[in-house]
Amino acid sequence: MSELVSTKYVDSYDINVLMDAFRESFASLNVFKTLKPKMKVLIKVNLPESANQDSGLVTNPLVTCALIKVLNEMDIDCVIADSPMRGYSINKMDELYFETGMLSIANQTKCELNHNLKTFKIEIPNGVKAKSLELLDVINDVDAIINVGKVKMDNRLGYLGATTNLFGLVPGEIKYEILNRLSKQKDFSNFCIDIAEAIKEKLVLNVLDAIVTLEKDYTQRLLYCIAISKDPYSLDSVMQDILSINKSKGILKEAESRGLIDLSEQIKVVGDEIEKFKLEDFALSEIDDSKNLHKNKRKLKKYFIDHQKRVAIDDKTCKGCGVCSKICPTGAIVMKYDKNGELYAHVDYSKCIFCFKCHTACPYNVVEMIEPRKYKKTHNKIEKFNIEKNN
Ligand code: SF4
Ligand code: SF4
Repeated sequence: MSELVSTKYVDSYDINVLMDAFRESFASLNVFKTLKPKMKVLIKVNLPESANQDSGLVTNPLVTCALIKVLNEMDIDCVIADSPMRGYSINKMDELYFETGMLSIANQTKCELNHNLKTFKIEIPNGVKAKSLELLDVINDVDAIINVGKVKMDNRLGYLGATTNLFGLVPGEIKYEILNRLSKQKDFSNFCIDIAEAIKEKLVLNVLDAIVTLEKDYTQRLLYCIAISKDPYSLDSVMQDILSINKSKGILKEAESRGLIDLSEQIKVVGDEIEKFKLEDFALSEIDDSKNLHKNKRKLKKYFIDHQKRVAIDDKTCKGCGVCSKICPTGAIVMKYDKNGELYAHVDYSKCIFCFKCHTACPYNVVEMIEPRKYKKTHNKIEKFNIEKNN
C-alpha cells in the first residue's frame, strides 16, 4: 500500500546541488513511467500571503527552480499555482509571485505562472468531509500535478506537510470559510485527504522542502532534507518518523482509518538514511481540539487584521461609481454621501474577507492595497477624516 520515499541530504540552497538531488530521486523512484516528455505539469507550491521567501513558510524558490529545470530537461513544461487564503485575484497573485521569487523562476525556466482564476466542481463519492469540492480550474489545464510543500508545525492544526499542502488547491476565500467550519485537526485532516483522493489520478509526485522547517510558534529549524514520494501519506509518514511525531492521532491516523496507509508497515526509504535527519527534540505544537475557530473568532480576526494586507478607499479620490460596492461578495462596501452630496465608497472592515475583488474591479484604480502595519494609521486617519467631514 505504501510507496517508496526518497530522502536527500541538501546542505544549502545551491541550484546545482538541488538539481542533483531531484535527478537522483527521480531515478530511484522511477518517475519516468508517469512523467513523460511533452507533458504539462502543475507545480503546486505553498505561497501563503504576507510571507516572504525567507520566512520558511513559502516553498523555497530555488527548490522550485531546481525541480522545474529538471522537469524541463525531461521536456516537460510547468505551471506554478497556489491560491492564498485571502485574496485570489490577478493583482494579488502577481504580487505574491513577485514577493516569493516565483516570477524570477518563470523568467529562468520553461514555466508559466497560473493566472487562470476559474474554479470547477468535482464530486467525491467517498469523501468524509466533502462529497463535492470547488477546486482551481488550472488542474484541468495540466496532465499531472506535483505537490511541493513545506514542513511546519501549526499551533492549531499540528503537523503540516504533503497532504495538507493540497488545501491550497481550494480557491482563495473559500478556504477561510472551510477553516472556520473544519477547525478541528481531525476534520481538517479528513478534508485534505478528500482533496488528495479527488485528484489522485493526476497527483503523480509529492515533494517536501524540509531544508528549513518550522517548529512550534514558527521557529525555524534546519533539517537539510528534500523528501519525495509518489504517495503523500507515505511521504508524511517518513517525515513524521524523522521528526519523532506520534502518529496515534492526526492526518496519518485518519488516512489509516480510511484504508489509505498501514502505519504498522515499514516504508522503504532510498537516498540518504533517515537516521541522518532524525530529530528527537523537534518542538511540536500542543493541539487543543477543544478550541475551535468559532470560539476564537475574535482572536483570529485580530490576528488576520494584524497580518493581512487590506484595501483602503480614500473618499477624496473615489469617483462614487459604485462598481466596488456591487462586486463586494460580503456587502462590506456601502455607498455614502459626503456633505457636498458626492457619493463615495465606505469599507466596513468587520465584513471584509480580504478577497480584493474591489481592488481589481475599480475602474479608476483608487482602491489601494495597504500594508498591515500601515493599515491602522491610515485607517484611523481615513475614519477620522470621514467623521469630521460628515459632521
Ligand atoms: S471590501 Fe469587499 S470586495 Fe473589497 S476586499 Fe473586502 S470583501 Fe473583498
Ligand atoms: S469602484 Fe473605485 S471609484 Fe468606484 S466607488 Fe468603488 S472605489 Fe470609488
